[in-house]
Amino acid sequence: MTEEKTEEKEMPSTVIVSKCMEFRVKPTKEQKILIWKTFGCCRFVWNHLLDERISYEKMNKGKLLNTTPAHLKKENPFLCEVDSMALINTQLNLNQACNKLFAKGKTPRFRKKGKDKRSYTTNWINNNIEIIHKGDRENYIKLPKLGRVRIILHRSIPDEWRMKHATVKETTSGKFFISLTFDVDIKPIETRKKFDRIEAFDYSMPSLVVSASGENDITQDDIHWYRNLEKRIAKEQRKLSRMKYGSKNYWERKHKTGKLHEKASARRNDFLHKLSCNVSRSFDAVVVEDINLQHMSQSLNFGKSVYDNGYGLLRNMLAYKLNSQVKVLVKVDRFFPSSKRCSACHAVNHDLQLSDREWTCKSCGTHHDRDKNSSKNLLDEGKDILNRWASGDSSLILAPSGVLSEKKLHPQARYNVRQDGE
Ligand SMILES: [Zn+2]
Repeated sequence: MTEEKTEEKEMPSTVIVSKCMEFRVKPTKEQKILIWKTFGCCRFVWNHLLDERISYEKMNKGKLLNTTPAHLKKENPFLCEVDSMALINTQLNLNQACNKLFAKGKTPRFRKKGKDKRSYTTNWINNNIEIIHKGDRENYIKLPKLGRVRIILHRSIPDEWRMKHATVKETTSGKFFISLTFDVDIKPIETRKKFDRIEAFDYSMPSLVVSASGENDITQDDIHWYRNLEKRIAKEQRKLSRMKYGSKNYWERKHKTGKLHEKASARRNDFLHKLSCNVSRSFDAVVVEDINLQHMSQSLNFGKSVYDNGYGLLRNMLAYKLNSQVKVLVKVDRFFPSSKRCSACHAVNHDLQLSDREWTCKSCGTHHDRDKNSSKNLLDEGKDILNRWASGDSSLILAPSGVLSEKKLHPQARYNVRQDGE
């Protein structure tokens, strides 16, 4: 019965997606103190509720305790000084963490002063958060408890966007930012639409990506901003480790180290934004591999350099940039033998090692560059997926974020290959 219903259901005229924008804020001295107090209260609530939950779970095996921070407020009146939504959000985050980890027999971590993330989230209710324009360059954001905080509006927020929540954070260099999340109506992607210009990216170490078109290859020289700054960061970190926590020198050094980290990530973001922007404008669909980056960094000893080049970030940027232009990102399943298959005759070379950068196909004799061959295979597979989607294949799923992929049932069975080495 339900099946019939979904088939009859027409495509909605709009879908709601979340969009996020981040702005620099410049709180006054008093506002900074209140923000720091809020961070501290969130940590306090997290640790106390977590403690209660752990002991409750031990007593009543398998049952979860769900209490609000209200009872803590009675005994600790200082909690009333800060934004109550921040504390509730802490409780909700803790709930999520407990549900996930208790089931696995683990517990969430306690938060430690000076080591925890310096941020809190508050919700939009009845215009309690509002942008106030005072002059050409003078703008403020009204926030619960804090009042008007100076905000640097480097770009305007469309009027039709509906604010959902706001996260106030302090970076390690001592700057304050606010990230605002909005609900936005967008046109859904037309099902079974035709895509003409398609690009495919193969993830390549130690550079970033190799493209099927050859126009968007990113070599090692183009990236590794972090590596260039790494020596300097290590030096600062050593100095920091000798400082007494909380001293004036400690914070000075901490902010200096933070600045370097921020420099590295700012360069990375800038580079990836430009690349993803170009690609999403010039192509209708982009094909990428759905590889597990965490698994890769741990098992293949690439470690930091996997995170360093921001491949995951690039995929996310591509997804939302394509989506906003009513285009799709195709994720090819991680069991697809993109490296081991010959792009000319589709014979699979099971003997290919990770160290083989070039190889010759035993069936048809074509000589391949490992990454180029891989990107060609991804492009073919991506086209195949798009065609299957166009003909109404129900084993494919289009996520609201605009990512088209196989439904995760038994992906290994589809490609019938060994999992090693890929
Ligand atoms: Zn071949």
